[in-house]
Amino acid sequence: MTTSDARTKIVWDYAPAPESPEHVRLRESYGLFIDGEFRAPIDGRRVPTLNPATEEPVAEVAFAGEADLRAAVDSAREAQPRWASLSGLERGKYLFRVARLIQERTRELAVVESMDGGKPIRESRDIDVPLAAAHFFYYAGWADKLPYGVGGRQVAPHGVAAQIVPWNFPLLMAAWKLAPALACGNAAILKPAETTPLTALLLAEVLQEAELPPGVVAILPGDGALGASLVRQPDIDKVAFTGSTAVGKDIQAALAGRKVPLTLELGGKSANIVFEDAALDQAVEGIVNGIFFNQGHVCCAGSRLLIQESVADEVIGKLWERMGRLRVGDPLDKNTDVGAINSREQLERITELVSAGEGEGAVRRTVACELPERGYWFAPTIFTEVAPAHRIAVEEIFGPVVSVLTFRTQAEAIEKANNSTYGLASGIWTDKGAKAFEVASALQAGVAWQNTYNHFDPTAAFGGYKESGFGREGGPAGLRPYLRVT
Ligand code: NAD
Repeated sequence: MTTSDARTKIVWDYAPAPESPEHVRLRESYGLFIDGEFRAPIDGRRVPTLNPATEEPVAEVAFAGEADLRAAVDSAREAQPRWASLSGLERGKYLFRVARLIQERTRELAVVESMDGGKPIRESRDIDVPLAAAHFFYYAGWADKLPYGVGGRQVAPHGVAAQIVPWNFPLLMAAWKLAPALACGNAAILKPAETTPLTALLLAEVLQEAELPPGVVAILPGDGALGASLVRQPDIDKVAFTGSTAVGKDIQAALAGRKVPLTLELGGKSANIVFEDAALDQAVEGIVNGIFFNQGHVCCAGSRLLIQESVADEVIGKLWERMGRLRVGDPLDKNTDVGAINSREQLERITELVSAGEGEGAVRRTVACELPERGYWFAPTIFTEVAPAHRIAVEEIFGPVVSVLTFRTQAEAIEKANNSTYGLASGIWTDKGAKAFEVASALQAGVAWQNTYNHFDPTAAFGGYKESGFGREGGPAGLRPYLRVT
């Protein structure tokens, strides 16, 4: 094992440029969003939500209990037929309004996302929030054209959709789920993740401001037990889940034998493949974006880096130098590249897997940057000499850790890339278009990026193969899970 204790030579000095949280209008305590209003929990409890960069509470949030959940389901059941009976044009107007209000509150939403989740403000401001608005704009446009999205057939909504999202893209995942569900005439009960409920609750304020009819959306923060209870409610007509494969399997088992359609967007161990003919400097930027974006808390992170043997040393050298220039620290600083790890539990998971990598004989290098004293942090890390059977080559680390494997031929690259129980995304770096298409069509991955990585767009479908789940979100394909087609 080698661990560098010095940063690479080129160090750029930036003055701190923190985004001010002063314009943020957070309440001290948030209720549950049921029937168009914030309510005190009936049998739930109130818990603080922490800033992972400081371990200080940001606000207090109600977690729903069983009676709260029942109230939300009843209200959604009552509201859904009226919502579905509106013309698509009218539903679209509400969604356009939501999109514009998200844009108006971009700065506030971005700051709160970074405070609650730990991601760099540069990402929440430039990626999460604009993409969330873009999803509402996109599906607003579909609301009055639904049959065209499914080959001209007759469509109807399912009814009430239960939607569960993880903590890595809290607002964006809420938008991915809510926008198509509402466009198609469903009501929705959204459960944000336990560590990041705040932007979903600000979205509830946006829905109020947009005058969305009461009951059409409920937002119920809570833990895994609430999620488990939500998917087992007898009165729900559709379940959409984004999260870990283990929980996805549990939900699938819970729904077995019931006529409730299910969408699962699960974990990944995606291969980012660099061929010797690639533009290597560009590829290094793509590798960095692929694994260090959002501290590696990304389902489609390029966490298995496959490099052609002839250029492996060169790419690893350039990558290591580039990693030394990543700025790790205050998520609210506009210069920060890598923010805080989302929670203590996640930090423990990353630490445990990294120790396993060292124990199994891979070579670890971790950037020796100064980390803040409080909060949860993990410095960018690269493993070389990784064998395909090592845990760090197989399991999702969900942190800023990349495992490097090498290959000699295109066939070997494909074989190694597909040697995974997952199949979410992939990256292909080559200057040969034909090779990129050939490799992309042989990869068992829902997304194949060519000479780019982590590129998202509401018009493009996203989803997995194998244990990465099924169903698609985004694009016209994202309408299908929310429609009954006859
Ligand atoms: P998680 O599965 O632990 O939790 C996800 C959500 O499910 C949370 O809201 C949680 O409260 C809830 N939950 C927990 N137990 C539940 C249960 N038994 N029944 C119902 N709901 C339950 O996952 P996580 O650690 O929060 O998120 C990270 C995982 O999400 C990673 O595996 C990542 O790859 C995956 N993810 C996938 C995508 C995708 O689009 N494929 C996107 C983002 C994250």
